Amino acid sequence: MLNIVLFGPPGAGKGTQSERIVNKYKLVHLSTGDIFRYNIKQETDLGKLAKSYIDKGELVPDQVTIDMLNAEVEKQVNPNGFIFDGFPRTTTQADALDKHMISKGSSITMMLSLHVPEEELIKRLLLRGKESGRSDDTDENIIRNRIRVYNEQTAVAANYYEMQNKYHQIDGIGTIEDIFERLCQIIDKHSTIL
Ligand code: AMP
Repeated sequence: MLNIVLFGPPGAGKGTQSERIVNKYKLVHLSTGDIFRYNIKQETDLGKLAKSYIDKGELVPDQVTIDMLNAEVEKQVNPNGFIFDGFPRTTTQADALDKHMISKGSSITMMLSLHVPEEELIKRLLLRGKESGRSDDTDENIIRNRIRVYNEQTAVAANYYEMQNKYHQIDGIGTIEDIFERLCQIIDKHSTIL
């Protein structure tokens, strides 16, 4: 299995690039943000809980997020692999993901981290907010809080993969196609099962 963690701050382009990677490598795309938003739309208990955190730009508690993600992994029958988009966002989540994949006789192949400067992120998110109407993308204070949470709680999760020699940083500035090319080069170089 080819299991990729696509990492980076909000607005780095994880969703956009995930779509392309999924098509090329035939992986299952699991975006915790998308799953939370689906639950909010369906007004499930999980959705109501998640909304109270998402609206402030805070992280949904680890155990809730981990249980949800593990359940989504279990739904897939014989997948080629996964792309995890927006997960893990803490070291606790990274550790739980490793354990879950190991219990399935698999492992995380690599973390690809998109690097984009902060002011560019804010510009992109405000633009996305205008187009998508995502409430956490329209308020600059919430956006800044999400980036602060990323810097304080999430960025450290990269160390977890660095220690396993699975971490790769990619310049996230350029055209969507250029960035996709950079990602593919690393995937092709570091994965054996394609
Ligand atoms: P995203 O679509 O990835 O930007 O996520 C939107 C929001 O969902 C985040 O700001 C968090 O509030 C929540 N969220 C998504 N993924 C996670 C996660 N792995 N851990 C905790 N909260 C998450």
